[in-house]
Amino acid sequence: MEKVHSIAVEQTQNSRLAQVDFENLNFGKIMSDHMLLAEYDNGSWQSVKVVPYENLSLSPAASALHYGQAIFEGIKAYSLENGQISIFRPDQNHIRFNKSAARLEMPEVPEEIFLEGMKELIRTDRDWVPKNPGTSLYIRPYMFATEAALGVHPSASYKFLIITSPVGAYYNKPLRVKIETHFTRAAEGGVGFSKNAGNYALSLHPTRLAQEEGFDQLMWTDAKEHAYIEEAGTANLLFIMDDTLITPSSETILRGITRLSIMDIAKKWGLKTESRKVSIEELINGIEDGSVTEAFAAGTAATLTPIVEIGHEGKVYKLSDPATRAFSNKVLAYLNDLRYGRIEDEFGWNLVLD
Ligand SMILES: *Cc1c(COP(=O)(O)O)cnc(C)c1O
Repeated sequence: MEKVHSIAVEQTQNSRLAQVDFENLNFGKIMSDHMLLAEYDNGSWQSVKVVPYENLSLSPAASALHYGQAIFEGIKAYSLENGQISIFRPDQNHIRFNKSAARLEMPEVPEEIFLEGMKELIRTDRDWVPKNPGTSLYIRPYMFATEAALGVHPSASYKFLIITSPVGAYYNKPLRVKIETHFTRAAEGGVGFSKNAGNYALSLHPTRLAQEEGFDQLMWTDAKEHAYIEEAGTANLLFIMDDTLITPSSETILRGITRLSIMDIAKKWGLKTESRKVSIEELINGIEDGSVTEAFAAGTAATLTPIVEIGHEGKVYKLSDPATRAFSNKVLAYLNDLRYGRIEDEFGWNLVLD
């Protein structure tokens, strides 16, 4: 690692902390007092600092607004039993962020900005990490193109920011999902593996149509045949089929860190795991013959959300009562215990702040 430069911190004179109702936190509505801001220009990162959270000033021609060079990450920090603060696997998010950046011809963000900047920001806003059971601090690193020029080419300048938001205990409302066989989220050779803004914009319309049919979310399928299951809009999918934990594998899927962690825990517990193609047919047949015993979505926001109904071609397939799902309930409890420091961190996943 390169030398860590100390990051300047400009403290706010107007903390909003006292106005926050920590008993009633909605997801992503309240932002903490400070943000990290780094500027890239002329081929290098020019400045990195922690500053009061405030509006940005941008050229109306800023190229992210026109051509979509914009990427982000989602991470959580937790207040541990012993009073320390821990961030869950941010090194993995850093690696993924730079893969997203490379695909969109954006500059990589070095560790001393992404990780050291994040640590400095969370230290500055440590009182914003909520302490009530099930709560956390959601961390949103992101980067976008700022060059003021019309014309499609990689921007010469970028802003990298990290903002944070205290979030309440997540109620994992069981999901009703629809298998999407008309619209496409990502095709081979495209940008499905990257966390770029456009992937979410394109999901809004198909998701609204599914919601009008009474579903909560979509289960995307492959672009070529619409025959293989991919993932949900902001979460990966996992199934227990014949006592094996299976997750769809393809280059078009966002490689979630929650999914990775769940697969690693399952392996450690001696469960059989497979990362491979899963066809709609295999899934539906498995639900009908009883070999699919659990299905869930996994992502940073909700951790693990049971799927109770799957809609396909006008039929609805029902899955088991979430309360009876042995693996889902056990792994969710384990992950929560690990992240809140109630058990030993045997994988070394918690980055505990000093
Ligand atoms: C962020 C995201 C996920 C989940 O990734 P985690 O690292 O587990 O939060 C899955 N799919 C998509 C499309 C996502 O944007």
